[in-house]
This record gives sequence, structure tokens and C-alpha cells, in this order.
Amino acid sequence: MDWFEDLPRLCAALSAEGGASTAAARRIIEVSWTMFAGQVTPALDGPLTSRREAWLTALGAPCSGIIAAAAGLGLTGVLNNAHKLTRTAADRTHALAMATLRAAGTRRAGFDELALNCADRIRALLAQPQRAPGDLSIELPTGCACELCERLGAFLRAPERRGVDWPLAKDRRRHVHARIDEAELPVHHETRRQGRPYTLVLTKSEALFERERLAHERHQADLAWLTDEWKVSI
Ligand SMILES: [Zn+2]
Repeated sequence: MDWFEDLPRLCAALSAEGGASTAAARRIIEVSWTMFAGQVTPALDGPLTSRREAWLTALGAPCSGIIAAAAGLGLTGVLNNAHKLTRTAADRTHALAMATLRAAGTRRAGFDELALNCADRIRALLAQPQRAPGDLSIELPTGCACELCERLGAFLRAPERRGVDWPLAKDRRRHVHARIDEAELPVHHETRRQGRPYTLVLTKSEALFERERLAHERHQADLAWLTDEWKVSI
């Protein structure tokens, strides 16, 4: 999708020729957006893991290219769809919207609504109450409704529970590991190789607090940047 970054220049050159070239430029932008959204939208649900964040950050430049090209040719349909895509409250969508704004550089046309949406979302996040010192509750992302995940979810959600010893057969241990690792949950897991079956030992990690502190700082920095660069009102 790298070439989407060059769309503003390509489409400006085409539309300068007028007539059929302008129509072609408009069509290229529309098709580009359809391709981009088709590939990205299905992956916008779920937790913002480090892998997902790296992927979304890399998508900022192509997304930005399409929006700038659409703004250049006054394609409001594409712009509306782009704004709609990033208006949800999902963490991944927010990461994509911020990456898109950062990749916009000095361009401004077509991005204002994105900047406003991001600022609103960050303000809402910053207004949420901070985690209480002893609150160890962790949300297990949706994705599996099996009986193991139900038990795992109940342990993770319980604010006062730090650890659990869970005798489990190998395949079942593997499933629980996989769910924790996939979502990069702050939970340490190890297998105590005694007895039959072995025991899976889960312990919630203090990283839970550190991560939230870092996320809070990052949101503050992002809001300051939006206020400064994008002139979103405070
Ligand atoms: Zn499951």
C-alpha cells in the first residue's frame, strides 16, 4: 500500500490535465480508499498490542496520502468515509487516526475532523478515573467463549485476585498461554511440572500499573501535540 503515499502528487498532476484525466484521478482515489478500507477495517477490532500498533503506525502514511489526495480533488465521499472509519472508540482505530495525522506533515486540508475526533477521544480517556492502587482487574479481549476462557476471564476480572494455580492438561495450558500472549496481557504464566496434570501458575504483573501510567502520559503528550499543531481547542 506504499504507493498510496504518492497519490496527492499523482492525482494533482492528472487533474491538471483536466477532462478524462481528472475523472481518472478521482476514480483512482476512490478505488484506493476502497482497497485500503477493505484491508484495514476487518482488523480494527480487538486489543492494541505492540504488533498491531506497529502495523497501524505504518498505515498512517498511506491513509494520509489518500485523504490528502481526496481533499485536493474535493472528494467528499472518500473524506466522509475516512472520517467515519476513525470515529469509533476502538483503540486500534485511534492509533490509526493518530498515525495518519502524524504522517500528514504540513498538510491540513481534509484532516481537521480527524484531529478533532482524536482530541475528543483522548479527553474522554483522560477523564476516566485512574486505576485504584489495589485494583488488579484485567479485561480479557473477546475472541473465544470456551469454558477455559470463561474461567480465565473471571480470574483476570477479579480486582483482588493476583494469582491462581490451575491444574490443566497440556493442550488446555497451551490455549490459556496463547490467549494471554496474543493479547499481551500483563500476566506471568509458568507450568509447575509436578503431579498430573501439571499446574499452570498465573500471576498478574505490576506492569499493569506501569502500562496505564505510560498510556496516560502518552495521551497527555498527544493532546498537547494536537492542540499545538492542529489547533484543536482546549
Ligand atoms: Zn478459549
